[in-house]
Amino acid sequence: MTIAPPEGTIPRLRLFNSMTRTVETFRPLHPGTARVYSCGPTVYSFQHIGNMRAYIFTDTLSRALKFAGLEVTHIINITDVGHLTSDADTGEDKLEKASAKEGRSAYEIARFYTEAFWRDLGRLNIMPPTRWSLASQHVTDMIAFAEKIAPGHCYLLESGLYFDTSTVPNYGRLAGSEKRHGEGRIEEVAGKRHPGDFAIWRRSKPNEKRQMEWSSPWGPGAPGWHLECSVMSMKYLGEHFDIHTGGIDHREIHHPNEIAQNQAYTGTRDSGATVWMHNNFLVDRSGKLSKSTGGALLLEDLLGRGYHPAAFRLMCLQAHYRSPLEFSFPNLDAALARLKRLVKTIEGLRGAAQATTPPTPTARENDLLKQFTLEIADDLMTPRAIPVLEQALEDKKIPAPARLRIVRKMDEALGLRLGELSRKDLRVRPADAGLAKSDVEARVEARRKARAEKNFAEADRIRADLENSGVVLMDGDPLIWEWRIEPPQ
Ligand code: AMP
Ligand code: ZN
Repeated sequence: MTIAPPEGTIPRLRLFNSMTRTVETFRPLHPGTARVYSCGPTVYSFQHIGNMRAYIFTDTLSRALKFAGLEVTHIINITDVGHLTSDADTGEDKLEKASAKEGRSAYEIARFYTEAFWRDLGRLNIMPPTRWSLASQHVTDMIAFAEKIAPGHCYLLESGLYFDTSTVPNYGRLAGSEKRHGEGRIEEVAGKRHPGDFAIWRRSKPNEKRQMEWSSPWGPGAPGWHLECSVMSMKYLGEHFDIHTGGIDHREIHHPNEIAQNQAYTGTRDSGATVWMHNNFLVDRSGKLSKSTGGALLLEDLLGRGYHPAAFRLMCLQAHYRSPLEFSFPNLDAALARLKRLVKTIEGLRGAAQATTPPTPTARENDLLKQFTLEIADDLMTPRAIPVLEQALEDKKIPAPARLRIVRKMDEALGLRLGELSRKDLRVRPADAGLAKSDVEARVEARRKARAEKNFAEADRIRADLENSGVVLMDGDPLIWEWRIEPPQ
């Protein structure tokens, strides 16, 4: 995909760096390119809509980099081995636990949830990265990395090889000075020297046979979770690359631990990335949506209730990625209504634009594009960019084909598929709807005919019939929506 704003409109991209807690001008290490690593999912269960927010963020970042004319190399890892039930890397192995519960092998579990994750990203129009990097395929690299850092930075305990966080400068700086030495508790593992010390290699217990187990200089076992990201990011992007992303929880433990490993490996103070970026959480009234506590909504649940995935994407883009965003159905309804309005306007323009060829861009068109680009370049300020798109769509002084051209351009950064969506696509049939979409359409048409023939008794009968099946007709709807299915509350 080639994405480049018009000549002369590329403003400097500015990004918030969690390391310095300031917005900085982005200066790629290699001019013209950007190398990005995003911490990916742990695939022992479905990724919920909160996780989806994290990937809508990484996708917006990738799109913004491309919009700024950079060639992007993007790596996302899949944690299909070695994640324990706490971020401090203690507790049970999540995959082995899920395997015992579901009666499938740990590998089958990982594969199944990875594919479910990929399906959801596709639905949300999240571009695939340059490479999906699976942890289970990099264990040899991880052992080699650990062998290099072990002599100067690690100590061996009964339960495995541990990283001594006092051996690197400024451990935990990314988490902020108030958070000293991560969150681990010293009593969690007998013999740990500091609370923040973490497992590099987890040795299997005597007489224990794990499904995911490798031999190593420290005995049979599995790599610690933090190790994989240092190893795979360096392997594919180099010892220092441009941007490392993750959810805000990673700023506290996982990323400080990655940085400590990177420093140990390179023997420098370098964290390994120029910019560290973190998306804030999608929350609900009870707090952060969380996979481990169960009960968090999935994208599938939203589709089951009749919401198009683009409505969820728009709901996320309406908030800045660094702000917490509360998920609620009214919030999602508002995003869907906004999307319908956009799509309806675009459909109207498409009709008007068919006959004419796009005129050469005017100063007005270029101004709007520039304004939009400035918002995106200002630390991905999508909530302020979307109204610029709406302004362009409604601008009667710009001919229809030119307005469509602007929207297509802007949508390269937003990824809402505005050029392809029709109002029809947005009418998603809820999983428990009594009627098929074609059935509804046929009855709506029959009612229209009855009304045209002034057979109001028949028209009312059809309306009542539809209402009994949960379909609400919307006569006089300003969006000309015609009908919708009441989502079950
Ligand atoms: P996990 O599979 O739990 O490692 O999560 C995958 C990604 O989603 C990580 O970058 C997390 O930080 C992020 N994440 C988890 N929960 C949420 C949430 N409620 N809102 C936004 N991002 C989240
Ligand atoms: Zn990671």
